[in-house]
Amino acid sequence: MITQYKNRWLLLNQSSHCILCGLQPADDRQICQACLVDLPWIGNTCQRCAEPMHHASGSFICPQCQQKPPPYEQAIAPFEYRFPIDQLVQLAKFNGQTHYLRPLAELLSLRLQTEPRPELIIPVPLHRKRLQERQYNQAAIVAKHLARRLNIPFSNKLLLKTENTQHQADLNRKARRKNLRNSFQCVSAPPTSVAIVDDVMTTGTTAAEISRVLKQAGCQQVYIWIIARTAKELHLS
Ligand SMILES: [Zn+2]
Ligand SMILES: [Zn+2]
Repeated sequence: MITQYKNRWLLLNQSSHCILCGLQPADDRQICQACLVDLPWIGNTCQRCAEPMHHASGSFICPQCQQKPPPYEQAIAPFEYRFPIDQLVQLAKFNGQTHYLRPLAELLSLRLQTEPRPELIIPVPLHRKRLQERQYNQAAIVAKHLARRLNIPFSNKLLLKTENTQHQADLNRKARRKNLRNSFQCVSAPPTSVAIVDDVMTTGTTAAEISRVLKQAGCQQVYIWIIARTAKELHLS
C-alpha cells in the first residue's frame, strides 16, 4: 500500500489527510489506519540496545551487549529505520520539514507509556555551529513533545556538545568512538535518572558516550529513547 503511493506522499501534506498515502483522512496522528499498520514496527530486539533481532524470541541480549554491556540501562524504539520512517526522518532533519516529527514523536510516546519514567528528558545536543546551520535540533523537537505528553521536565541546558565533530555517518564504529570522545559536557549535576532522546540510533556510539558523561557526573540510570533503530546490516563498518 505504501510503496504504491510512495512518490505521492512526498508531495501531499494536507493536515486532514494521511502524510504517507495522501488519500485517506487521518486523525491527530496524521497517519491513517492502513498506513499505520504498514509501518516498520520493530519486533524482537536486544533488551539493552534495541538492535532488531529477527530470529530471536523472548528476552534476548545481543552478543555485543553480552560482551560489553552499554553504559545505559535500555534503548527503546518503536520502529526499525526503514521506509517510510527513514524518509520522514531525513526530510525532517535535512529538509526543514520538521512537521513530520510530531506524528513520529507521538507514536514514540505511546510506546513509552508502560516504561520507567526518568526525572528529566534531554535531547542529544548539536554543537552551536551545527545548530546555527540547521536552525533547529530535530532531537530537541522530539524530546519536547515527549516531555509534554509524558509530563516529565525537559532540558537542553544540562548537556552541551562542546566539539564540532565530523558527521558520524562518514565513520566506522571505532572511528565514531574516537571522534566523539570528550565532545559532550555535562554542565551541572544531573538528576538520578535521565532519558536521552534522538531521532535515530545506528551503532549506539553517541548514546554510549553521552551515557558515560552523565554517569560520570552522578546520574544513576540513563534511558535512550529514539524513533528508529537501524538493523545490523545497515551499519557502517
Ligand atoms: Zn495513509
Ligand atoms: Zn544489544
